[in-house]
Amino acid sequence: MVIGIIGGGASGMAAALAASENKNAQVLLFERQARLGRKLMATGNGRCNLTNQYMSLQYNYHGEQPEFAAHALQKYNVNNTLQWFESLGLCTVTEETGRVYPFSDQANSVLDVLRFALDKPNIQVLTGFEVTKIRQNNQGFTVESSDESYSCDKLIIACGGLAGTKLGGSMSGYKLLMKLGHHCTKLRPTLVQIKSDWPHCASLKGVRATCHVSILRDDELHASSQGEIQFTEHGLSGPVIFDVSRDVCREKGNWVCWLDLLPDMEALDRVLPMLQKKRETNLAAEDLFTGILHNRLGRVVVKEAGISLHAPIRQLEDWELEKACRTALELPVPLTEPMGMDSAQVTAGGILTSEFDPETMESRLVPGLYVCGEVLDIDGNCGGYNLQWAWSSGRCAGHAAGKE
Ligand SMILES: Cc1cc2nc3c(=O)[nH]c(=O)nc-3n(C[C@H](O)[C@H](O)[C@H](O)COP(=O)(O)OP(=O)(O)OC[C@H]3O[C@@H](n4cnc5c(N)ncnc54)[C@H](O)[C@@H]3O)c2cc1C
Repeated sequence: MVIGIIGGGASGMAAALAASENKNAQVLLFERQARLGRKLMATGNGRCNLTNQYMSLQYNYHGEQPEFAAHALQKYNVNNTLQWFESLGLCTVTEETGRVYPFSDQANSVLDVLRFALDKPNIQVLTGFEVTKIRQNNQGFTVESSDESYSCDKLIIACGGLAGTKLGGSMSGYKLLMKLGHHCTKLRPTLVQIKSDWPHCASLKGVRATCHVSILRDDELHASSQGEIQFTEHGLSGPVIFDVSRDVCREKGNWVCWLDLLPDMEALDRVLPMLQKKRETNLAAEDLFTGILHNRLGRVVVKEAGISLHAPIRQLEDWELEKACRTALELPVPLTEPMGMDSAQVTAGGILTSEFDPETMESRLVPGLYVCGEVLDIDGNCGGYNLQWAWSSGRCAGHAAGKE
């Protein structure tokens, strides 16, 4: 039996290893780029956040039918995935947040153990092979590139999504599946920076802060979360922003991100007295938040509170210090639109899950055709959830296709 797998990313490599557990199966792994797992190398800022110990289908996964993911995520759950990686020779560490990384802190460790495991007699890796056409025939499928073709009895499509175009994201998988009769929901970028026309963004570029964010649309609370944000030249980034990015600015309205830069600090009891104590010094207001916030962020808060950076702190009134403190608790950053697919980490939307069997990932329309990973209408939060979906769905599809 020949099993073709289109896409040598996270889910395709997992599927290939699972399918090859059947020694009678010959696995052909087609990857259009020169190397396997190019996107994987860029994950987690080069550290690869490969999964998360805190897993909830309800809170962490999205799509028209997120419950589709339940079977694969349960059968190949986090512990099972970590045991699998350990059996491949990967040491991992879990951070307090539940995020799991390779112990080496290098994404290439994850790719390397997968590559080494793929080096076995019944797997053939064909890099630089872009599948442009799939033909169905009596025996199964013929997979074609511009100048070569291969026949296979079963086929797994693991082409990934459109996000991260520079790292190989493309429409390819969606197009191949739609030509075979499948349907696609609307695609949009998620886990993506959100643009802002706030004049301070450029001066705060690169500054990180732990804060509580509340996103309001026309003064109504739309989403809230707590964690790290990062200011960029164009707006806001960071895990917390990524998590709220799937729906923000999709509809017209006045979108504002309110930042509480002193979360869980009981700021008026703890921070305000610190500001008041600075009146005993000869410091200027630009140093009001020095020691409390990132210096550049502290200066922006002082300006936004309407205080001149050069004003001597000793001359500031109680109400001015309280205003500065309250500004740090409620700093409004206007939002305009999310960045595009090329900067997004993940694609929201995808091929309709109702057209597949969640226990096997097999198509209900085309027998012998399987699918896994981001090309499906399943996306996860920031924190390792998307790679967990890639491993779980890939191994689920690979094991099912590998059965005689
Ligand atoms: C910058 C960045 C950082 C990320 N960080 C994290 C993280 O830390 N944790 C996390 O959980 N998720 C992260 N993600 C998301 C995660 O990488 C993806 O969700 C995951 O890789 C999807 O796996 P996949 O196998 O479905 O697709 P991919 O990994 O994208 O693999 C698809 C492969 O198919 C190939 N392909 C496509 N079409 C064809 C064709 N026609 N013929 C042959 N080959 C084809 C592509 O070249 C690609 O190699 C990140 C994404 C990005 C862009």
